[in-house]
Amino acid sequence: MGLYRTEFPYMARGDFPDRLDQYQLYSKVVEGFGDHPVTIRTLDIGGDKALPYFSPPTEDNPFMGWRSVRVSLDNRDIFRTQIEAILMAGVHGPVKMLFPMISSLEEIRACKAVVEEARQNLSREGTVFAEQIPLGVMLEVPGAVRLADKLAREVDFFALGTNDLIQYLLAADRNNPLVSKYYDPLHPAVLQVLNEVTEVARRMKVGLCLCGEMGSDPLTFMLLIGMGVREFSMPSPFIPRLKALLQDLSLEQARRAARQALELGESAQIRALLEEHLKKITGE
Ligand code: PEP
Ligand code: MG
Repeated sequence: MGLYRTEFPYMARGDFPDRLDQYQLYSKVVEGFGDHPVTIRTLDIGGDKALPYFSPPTEDNPFMGWRSVRVSLDNRDIFRTQIEAILMAGVHGPVKMLFPMISSLEEIRACKAVVEEARQNLSREGTVFAEQIPLGVMLEVPGAVRLADKLAREVDFFALGTNDLIQYLLAADRNNPLVSKYYDPLHPAVLQVLNEVTEVARRMKVGLCLCGEMGSDPLTFMLLIGMGVREFSMPSPFIPRLKALLQDLSLEQARRAARQALELGESAQIRALLEEHLKKITGE
């Protein structure tokens, strides 16, 4: 389970879930996945996601505003409660904890301080919890990508949040149909940035999982495999098709496609190149 978005169960309720509610919910998911790790992301509200009982401020630019980990860090009790529930659920199977929308070292260090507080609180109470949960940051703000090697020293893994990263890199709202042609996963700048992150993750020996819609498209999937991405989070209906593609794809082919794509300067050329490679592989 590459990305468990905790805001969705929060959104489906009429009030804030308490620690027990959250613990029960997360434990059920963790138990359901058995030995497979579940990456639980802390609350990522704001932007396009609102909680009915938590009125968001009126903002001119909600996606650039008070969202995600910023809301959590400004509501420390709510944040610590969630972290405690995640640590407790970690007793039921392998769990990783992921912090969204990190944009600075200070922020991830502040999150880690809350994790420490949560651990101390649970120990004081005598509540059992998982001591060693890997911590990760979502790289979805361009500034965080520039700091990736420093952030890598703070965490165990990166999750590339490509849905947001693309919108912030290209200044194109991910939900606005008027600018959808500017929201382009094959924009050469996007490819350079993704490649940069895979290189940092490899060099710094931190895990890397790619999240976001672009991972489910066979064209971009092949390209990302060629860049060295090995973990993907995607909606389950896409998995069979991409597994089938993997059986036909050689690593050398994928690497060649990625190398060539990274040389190009226009999205249309990149698309044509990848389509050609894919056609050779699948024969379609
Ligand atoms: C992303 O930004 O790519 C992501 C996976 O998170 P969300 O779509 O929930 O913002
Ligand atoms: Mg995101």
